[in-house]
Amino acid sequence: MTPSTTFAGRSVALFGLGGSGLATALSLRAGGARVVACDDDPARMAAAGEQDIATADLRGADWSGFAALVLSPGVPLTHPAPHWTVGLARAAGVPVIGDIELFCRERAARAPGAPFVAITGTNGKSTTTALIAHVLAAAGHDVQMGGNIGTAILSLAPPAPGRVHVVEMSSFQIDLTPSLAPSIGVLLNLTPDHLDRHGDMAAYAAIKERLVAGSDHAVVGVDDAWSRAIAGRRAGPLTRVHVGEAGDGPGLLARRGVIIDGRAEPAVPVADLAGIGPLRGAHNWQNAAIAYAVAANLGVSADAFAQALRGFPGLAHRMEEVGRRGPVLFINDSKATNADSAEKALSAFQSIHWILGGKPKEGGIAALAPYFPRVAHAYLIGAASEAFAATLEGHVPFSRCGTLAAAVARAAAAAADDRAGEPVVLLSPACASYDQFRSFEERGDVFRSLVRALPGIAAVGP
Ligand code: ADP
Repeated sequence: MTPSTTFAGRSVALFGLGGSGLATALSLRAGGARVVACDDDPARMAAAGEQDIATADLRGADWSGFAALVLSPGVPLTHPAPHWTVGLARAAGVPVIGDIELFCRERAARAPGAPFVAITGTNGKSTTTALIAHVLAAAGHDVQMGGNIGTAILSLAPPAPGRVHVVEMSSFQIDLTPSLAPSIGVLLNLTPDHLDRHGDMAAYAAIKERLVAGSDHAVVGVDDAWSRAIAGRRAGPLTRVHVGEAGDGPGLLARRGVIIDGRAEPAVPVADLAGIGPLRGAHNWQNAAIAYAVAANLGVSADAFAQALRGFPGLAHRMEEVGRRGPVLFINDSKATNADSAEKALSAFQSIHWILGGKPKEGGIAALAPYFPRVAHAYLIGAASEAFAATLEGHVPFSRCGTLAAAVARAAAAAADDRAGEPVVLLSPACASYDQFRSFEERGDVFRSLVRALPGIAAVGP
């Protein structure tokens, strides 16, 4: 755990006692602050009370006594409570911050030069964060990984000379971190998403740009216009990472699955991603090339990077290989909750037995039509079935399966008879999961269990 000493001897209000909220409360207390915590879930209030964290309805509090309001990143902005807590804090002149701000202050006090890699972007944050942490650990670094992925940042070991913190950050977390100054700041890409939260694209991009602007060294994926503009405005050290045929200025290039370091003259091939299952798909070329930019900056050689890549286990629910039976591969891509993400999976395979459906999103799957010729058969589940059937009609053979269990059974049987080179049973639903599951994680876990219960399956992955 990292004790937060910045408010020692002072009072701090905290809203949101989910996983990282409670970790923050314990860290503040360990650092000598008086914490008053609040959550609208009485069970979470009681759990905090059991750990001797003072709880109160902050509506009635005297806000002039607080040195800060710490907002848990787990609290959705759509929740009414942040509005009133933030409103009360602002009215009393109390700064509103998040747990990564507490971490940054601790780093500044304890080990200002300690490597701190912060990663943001619209897509690929978790994959790239995990990949960077994996490669650095394989190269012998003392690595702590967390933030928006896995462990709450204040539950990690504290900043120390030589210890690398690799931290995934959402826009919301950047917003709550005024003194964000990572040693390496990564911006993967910027496309319209979460605009409901941030108003418009310019506001969303401006938040992401703060991470780049504040970093000692920036690594920016320059494949979209917004990120390219941010790279163009960057005054300090910068590595540009481009996916495509030609470089866009001196930087790193990922061309047809090969990472090439164009900063050297002549350019040097670094690693070939072919055959690395968890990094299938062109979108992962960007993630891997960006991971190399970071690793190289921290002294990892091209050879060590290429070797570590081959041992990357990947992340659950994102192009996760869960089993194999003869030539048939079973892939769990449950994280693909919209057509954009499902497109990434469809583009990575040829003869696809595609399980899709769930709670539909606006736009449906019409945009995926260019990939329909790759789909041997579609297996529809959940609420989107009728809408998707209408889109597929006349283009792709399909079955209405209702449940995921029925879809897996039918897809597995059909794929076994598919004489294509390497048939794939792919769960890439292009839908939210909430009509039939609690989360995309639960949907993916169910898929994995169903696949592994099939006769003759060889489990792949963890
Ligand atoms: P995030 O943490 O930003 O949500 P993930 O690493 O969890 O990203 O990947 C989520 C999905 O986003 C993947 O399943 C894939 O469909 C898509 N994706 C991953 N990396 C990229 C990328 N670099 N560019 C575009 N899409 C990507």
